[in-house]
Amino acid sequence: MTKFNELNLLDTILKNVHEAGYESPTPIQAQSIPPLIEGKDLLGIAQTGTGKTAAFTLPMLQKLAGRDFSLTPNEPRSLILAPTRELASQIKEQIDKYGKDLKLKSFVIFGGVGQGNQVNALRNGLDVLVATPGRLIDLMNQGFCKLNRIEIFVLDEADRMLDMGFIHDIKKIISKLPEKKQTMLFSATMPNEIIGISNRILKNPVRVEVTPVSSTVERINQKVIFCQKAHKYQLLRKILSEEGVELSLVFTRTKHGANKIVDYLAHHSIKSVAIHGNKSQNARESALENFKKGTIKVLIATDIAARGIDVQGVSHVINFDIPVDAESYVHRIGRTARAGREGDAISFCDETERDALSRVQKLIGLKLPVETFMGVPEKSVKETRPSKPFRDPRAKKQNHSSIDKKTKVGFKYRNKG
Ligand code: AMP
Repeated sequence: MTKFNELNLLDTILKNVHEAGYESPTPIQAQSIPPLIEGKDLLGIAQTGTGKTAAFTLPMLQKLAGRDFSLTPNEPRSLILAPTRELASQIKEQIDKYGKDLKLKSFVIFGGVGQGNQVNALRNGLDVLVATPGRLIDLMNQGFCKLNRIEIFVLDEADRMLDMGFIHDIKKIISKLPEKKQTMLFSATMPNEIIGISNRILKNPVRVEVTPVSSTVERINQKVIFCQKAHKYQLLRKILSEEGVELSLVFTRTKHGANKIVDYLAHHSIKSVAIHGNKSQNARESALENFKKGTIKVLIATDIAARGIDVQGVSHVINFDIPVDAESYVHRIGRTARAGREGDAISFCDETERDALSRVQKLIGLKLPVETFMGVPEKSVKETRPSKPFRDPRAKKQNHSSIDKKTKVGFKYRNKG
């Protein structure tokens, strides 16, 4: 197995990685760091949970370190684009951790907060700018940020950007980047549009693909509980009171649904907090902070708000409803069993959700063990499977280039439970 000290990293970076408690590089790190240090472009097909953030930040920090010139105001040296505020903040946290003592200046910008501090940080000059697309474009339009000096550009979670409707913003940002730079693109799946973008922006890229978090997901005990819609609240309360439940992340499809759960639990003296798009940035950050510290043990989240949540010690992911988009299931359950731990993923499924469950099972390639709550007869999922075989809408759009074939992400998750 490769060791960090075989990757030609600076001593300071090695020290920081050691302090972070990492013993050896994850597969994506071992494969990406050497070519990135050499200055190559990279196409990384990987999800969160694989260690991809360190895979791009470590070589990036190494390249930017040792600067012997002054920074130019409003013209950052590198740019990492991330789809959500949470993910952007977490990337920034990792940069601070791995970049300690390197004397590099970094800042994260996103919408939903005042722009004063962001404008000041840009004006003072930056080695690393982490940004969400919308606010970056706002600041660019106002003349506070120019991209003509970008030495390294990272597009993280490109497929998610597409899902969230950022594609035009991304194209606009890309059009402002200088020709000469190092570029990295990370995506969990490769729909056509992302293949197009990667062909446009990557030059002779090294292609690294890690079967998504299989090592992580193997550690997740998954099960589904059939119940009536009206009983889900009670079921949640029961699970939350069970032994071994430390930090729980509960997913709902809607913001309203998330708020309703918080109210219900509060009524039963269980403290929880919701994070979703209607919450202010401050409220979301403080909720996450309290969850990380363990002051609040139950976090209720919608899919988009939860993207990028990286909290070690999440013992349970509870799907209060089955996600309509089967891939969200994979993202949701990947919030537990982080950094080598075990975790439980429990999904509540009422009568109306059997088709959605079938799609999830089809995608992950296994039938989840079933339990029932309050006397709901166990129906075989096969019975409720739609007559037409499920086709992933993304797969439908994909073309048949060699990349495409290889990137049919192998959602081959094994189940222990
Ligand atoms: P990411 O895929 O970048 O979201 O990282 C997932 C989690 O793995 C984060 O909590 C990281 O701190 C952690 N991590 C990253 N690299 C390593 C490593 N080499 N060993 C152990 N944990 C790691």
